[in-house]
Amino acid sequence: MNLTLHLTENCNMSCSYCPRTRTSLRMSEDVLDAACRLAFSSGGHGGLCFFGGEPLLEQSLITRAIAQCRTLSEQTGMPAQFAMTTNGTLLTADILQQLASVEADIGISFEGTAQNCCRHFADGSSSFSIVESKAKLLLEYCPSAYAMMTIAPPALPRYAEAVAYLYALGFRRITATIAYGSKVHWTDGHLLQLEEQLRRIAAFCSEKTLEGCRFYFSPLHSKIQNLLRGKNSADHCHLGFRQMPVAPDGRIYACTQFIGDDAYCLGDVFQGIDSQKQAALAMTASTPDTCKACALAKRCTNSCGCLNRLETGSEHLVSPLQCSYEKMLIAIADEMADRIFETAPELFRKRFM
Ligand code: SF4
Ligand code: SF4
Repeated sequence: MNLTLHLTENCNMSCSYCPRTRTSLRMSEDVLDAACRLAFSSGGHGGLCFFGGEPLLEQSLITRAIAQCRTLSEQTGMPAQFAMTTNGTLLTADILQQLASVEADIGISFEGTAQNCCRHFADGSSSFSIVESKAKLLLEYCPSAYAMMTIAPPALPRYAEAVAYLYALGFRRITATIAYGSKVHWTDGHLLQLEEQLRRIAAFCSEKTLEGCRFYFSPLHSKIQNLLRGKNSADHCHLGFRQMPVAPDGRIYACTQFIGDDAYCLGDVFQGIDSQKQAALAMTASTPDTCKACALAKRCTNSCGCLNRLETGSEHLVSPLQCSYEKMLIAIADEMADRIFETAPELFRKRFM
């Protein structure tokens, strides 16, 4: 079973687009131990993702969880899998050694040369220099770690440049999304700027692919791969099934956006999961009515209940922003695919199919 552990609601940064409320709530050792046991109670493996706030504010809990899961893995014969999402500022050689020893998949929130546009420390100071040095340290220990970009309007002019910078730093996987939520205000002008930047990024991705480099920029590569591999992008929302968040108090929810909402609480780490409620909730994940006739419905993330709720307040309603962004991504990804296929069809098949 895969659990995302919200080790703390606290964070040492104060990013301008962050939708979370910082509090001093942290996970107790009792809750952590019960979560580890629950992760190994069903399924083929025990999977933990360390999450926050900023999870590295609670490094002792991470160390404890790794030790617990090693023991549980020996007892059950099930492999342990670890992941972490961090802002990177508190990475040390010691914690990286521990995480590398269990092959943790680590994502660092880093916007490269666009970092200082929105990502500041809680006291308002800039974070680029420190995160750059921590990103280098991360790649020494975990070369397959990935960079996670969240692009809000102030960072737009530097978006393409920042992707090239992260590539030059050594990241071969970059996930990227636009910033959503009430703290971000997108205009039509911003969307035009976004389109121009994404076209530059697509040109960069094409160039790298044609040079034979393995480089994955999630917004564009996933659209091409999902289409060619027959995957429905709208299926990626596995409300309450694939990856369940555990709040610091031990309650388990269907998705991170729903933490604190009783209607989406599936149980807790001590009593386990209410499987009837889980099944009933999963049935509610569906294509929104406004998308049913759209030709792009299967290539679009329209049924991500978490994102829809953040944007519109309803998990069944897609925002105009998300709709415009998805249409833009699909068009640019298709142009990129055509360009690579026309130049090097064999390489294209190898890379995307
Ligand atoms: S680092 Fe993450 S949790 Fe912390 S303020 Fe920034 S976006 Fe929010
Ligand atoms: S492109 Fe817009 S209308 Fe079409 S499926 Fe996506 S969100 Fe719905």
